[in-house]
Amino acid sequence: MSGLLPDESNGEVAGGGASTSRADANASSSQQAPPSRYEAQKRRDWNTFGQYLKNHRPPLALSRCSGAHVLEFLRYLDQFGKTKIHAPACPFFGLAHPPAPCACPLRQAWGSLDALIGRLRAAFEEHGGKPESNPFGARAVRLYLREVREMQAKARGIAYEKKKRKRPGSATSAVAAAAAASTAASAAAAAAAATTSEGSGGSGSALSGATTSSSPSGLGDPHLL
Ligand SMILES: [Zn+2]
Repeated sequence: MSGLLPDESNGEVAGGGASTSRADANASSSQQAPPSRYEAQKRRDWNTFGQYLKNHRPPLALSRCSGAHVLEFLRYLDQFGKTKIHAPACPFFGLAHPPAPCACPLRQAWGSLDALIGRLRAAFEEHGGKPESNPFGARAVRLYLREVREMQAKARGIAYEKKKRKRPGSATSAVAAAAAASTAASAAAAAAAATTSEGSGGSGSALSGATTSSSPSGLGDPHLL
């Protein structure tokens, strides 16, 4: 069944598409405002993740969920992405507005993933999870988001400074701040890790790439600006 798709109508998972807030239909005592778009999106995200866990093989309980599982989830979401991310070999690599189509894959944009993780992280604790064991706050997730951010910035020629997407509550949190703090230095490293994948045997590719990308082996390509 395809009920797992994260609100594809709007493209990006975090886009906050047509907010069907039929859950509040019964709140006709309407003194309190209806949930914000952020709250509604957060609820949808949480449900989507719950569905993902439910369909996971082997089955996965929320209490056993780790950062690695969150990464798995994020990669799974990529197939529903709507953002063209050019491969380094693509002639349009680094162009924000390519003049022609190309065969590069569509992915979830970093901003979408970042906002999604922020919402899920909050939802986890609202559902009784302990901050210390919040898989959405795991270091591996933070590193992965940073790597995605840097790779997409290069691939799309877009610097993610304060690019305001249409998200209201701005769930960016400390993750974005931390990622913003270290940009250029490890961007080249991330790109190098992406292209020269000789180190890892290809087992846990993206994760191992994320963890090893801190060695600045590929400086010398100040492509970013
Ligand atoms: Zn391309």
